[in-house]
Amino acid sequence: MGHLSTTRRAVVTGGAGFLGSHLCERLLGDGYEVLCLDNFLTGRPENVAHLLPHEAFRLLRCDVTDYIHVGGPVDLVLHFASPASPIDYLQLPIQTLKVGSIGTLHALGLARDKGARFVLASTSEVYGDPLVHPQDEEYWGNVNPVGPRGVYDEAKRFAEALTMAYRSTHGLDAAVVRLFNTFGPRLRPGDGRAIPTFVRQALKGQPLTIAGDGSQTRSICYVDDTVEGILAMAHADHPGPVNLGNPHELSVLDLARWIRDLTGSASELAFVPRPQDDPRVRQPDISRARDLLGWEPKVPVEDGLRLTIEWFRAHPELV
Ligand code: NAD
Repeated sequence: MGHLSTTRRAVVTGGAGFLGSHLCERLLGDGYEVLCLDNFLTGRPENVAHLLPHEAFRLLRCDVTDYIHVGGPVDLVLHFASPASPIDYLQLPIQTLKVGSIGTLHALGLARDKGARFVLASTSEVYGDPLVHPQDEEYWGNVNPVGPRGVYDEAKRFAEALTMAYRSTHGLDAAVVRLFNTFGPRLRPGDGRAIPTFVRQALKGQPLTIAGDGSQTRSICYVDDTVEGILAMAHADHPGPVNLGNPHELSVLDLARWIRDLTGSASELAFVPRPQDDPRVRQPDISRARDLLGWEPKVPVEDGLRLTIEWFRAHPELV
């Protein structure tokens, strides 16, 4: 005789990536059964290797733009598959557009089929080079569709529209979170984002390469806080979009100096040209997340930076 299982089951697309791997870990800790789908385009099986002995965890190599087939019940679909760093999506423009469109269509189809809650990982990049500051969810953004970054920004904007269409047309319990820059262990040292780049350069004693004069700002959130916010949204019934990020804003130049100090490195600072359409400012207004989810970041940025540096030091083979 079979028995009715009360275990909740989650599917995480892009689960072998930076954020996805932390989500899988956290979901397992919360008692979920977790199916991780990933084609290892920008993620690595090593990111979830420590979860493989867990009997509630399964890793399946699969390109979500081909199809998604999952047997059995599913309660939650977290759609995180997508190249996410500028270096990645500039090298993989078609894959980025495909996973944001066709991949999202398939992930929504899975959630509809199973009657599951669906959460789309969208991004602050939907705000483009913003004309309002800080950015709240009512702002529509300033995106150049034919600029180099358009492949990512527009894929996510399309994915948001598709998610809302599934909600209104099919009554799907679907939601959008707009994630701002998140950092922590398992970021790829060579992925071109500011924090892993500065940490790698500082640990190797190489010059820290600052784009432009470094006065452009970023707001950076430690991964544990972002994951907490995503799960709060997964367990809410609100459609969003909801910004998740740390309003602690700092200039790229100050970030470089801070990382250099924390690593004790003697690296010099080097100034390189700014990439086209690089946003000048970035800061989330998180009032909605505070009101709806009672969520706000808790980890001080300095603690997060120390933990990240520690992880990079422990993985010299990657640096
Ligand atoms: P990541 O590159 O580490 O993870 C993305 C994962 O998706 C990788 O494991 C990759 O192999 C997988 N993937 C890509 N295309 C796929 C496909 N067609 N089929 C199956 N798997 C595929 O990036 P991340 O930083 O962990 O970002 C995860 C998600 O969060 C992305 O959707 C990204 O847009 C979003 N996001 C991240 C941040 C951040 O600061 N890290 C900010 C905003 C939004």
